[in-house]
Amino acid sequence: MDLRLAGRVAVITGSSIGIGYAIAKGLIDEGVKVVVNGRRADLVEKACKELGELAVPCVADVATVEGCDALVKAAEAAGGADILINNAGTGSNETIMDAPDEKWQHYLDLHLMAAVRLSRGLVPQMENKGAGVILNVASICAVQPLWYEPIYNTTKAALMMFSKTLSLEMIPKNIRVNCVNPGLILTPDWEKTARQLTADKGGDWEGYLQEIAEEHAPIKRFCQPDELADFFVFLCSDRASYSVGSAYFVDGGMKQTV
Ligand code: NDP
Repeated sequence: MDLRLAGRVAVITGSSIGIGYAIAKGLIDEGVKVVVNGRRADLVEKACKELGELAVPCVADVATVEGCDALVKAAEAAGGADILINNAGTGSNETIMDAPDEKWQHYLDLHLMAAVRLSRGLVPQMENKGAGVILNVASICAVQPLWYEPIYNTTKAALMMFSKTLSLEMIPKNIRVNCVNPGLILTPDWEKTARQLTADKGGDWEGYLQEIAEEHAPIKRFCQPDELADFFVFLCSDRASYSVGSAYFVDGGMKQTV
C-alpha cells in the first residue's frame, strides 16, 4: 500500500525512545521529516543520529509553555507541520487521598495541556498546507483504570475527551484528529522496571513481564513498539481519510468491554 506520506513534516512529542521513537522511525521510513523531541538532550541526539537526516532535534519539556513554543518554532523551521503526535507521557503511582495538587497539575500539563498548547500552536501551520493530522496517545487506562495510578487514569481520560472535542472543531479545516489507546507495549521503561523488581528474586525479568501479559492481555504477550507504530503510520496517511474523532484500542484484547 503506497501511503503517499513522503515530504510531509511531523512533530512527535517524546520521540527520543519508546513508542514515540518507533513512530518516528516508521514515518521516516515513509519519507516524512520528523521533529524528534524529549527533555534529555543526549537521548534526542542519539535518536536523531540513528534516524538519519530526516530527523530534526528539538530538546524541550512539553509540560511547559516554553517547551511547546520551542516545538512550534522547530516545526516552522522544518517547513511547517502536517502531522502532530502528542505522545510524551508517563505512568504515576499514588492514592487520591495522598497526592498533592502539584502532582495533579504536573500530569495535567504533561498529558492534557501539552496537547492543547501544541494543537493551538501547530494548527495554523496545517491550515497553511490545507490539511493535517493530529493523533493523541492516551491509554487503555483512559477507560479501564489501574488502581495504583489515579492521576494517570484521569489525565489520560481527559486527553481522550479533548481529542474527540478537538476533532469536531478541526474537521472543517480538513484536519483529522484521533486518539490511540495502547495496552501493554514493551518499551525500555517496562524492561527497566521489571529488571528492578526481579533483581533480588533471581532476575527473571522476562518471566515477570510474561506473567503481566498473561494476567491482563488475552493475546498473552506484550506488543513491540514497531507493531504499534505501523498503526500510527497508517492513521497519519490519507489512506485513513475517513477516520475522524475516534479512539482506537491497540491492546491485544485487554479492554474488557466492547
Ligand atoms: P517512554 O518512557 O519509553 O518514553 C517517553 C518519551 O517521552 C521519552 O522520549 C521521554 O524523554 C519523553 N518525555 C517524557 N516527559 C516529557 C516531557 N515533559 N517533555 C518532553 N518529552 C518528554 O514511554 P512510552 O514510549 O512507554 O510511552 C509513550 C506514551 O504512550 C505515553 O504517553 C504513555 O502514557 C503511553 N502509553 C504507553 C504504554 C506502554 O505500555 N508503554 C501503554 C499505554 C500508553 P525524556 O524523559 O528525556 O523527556
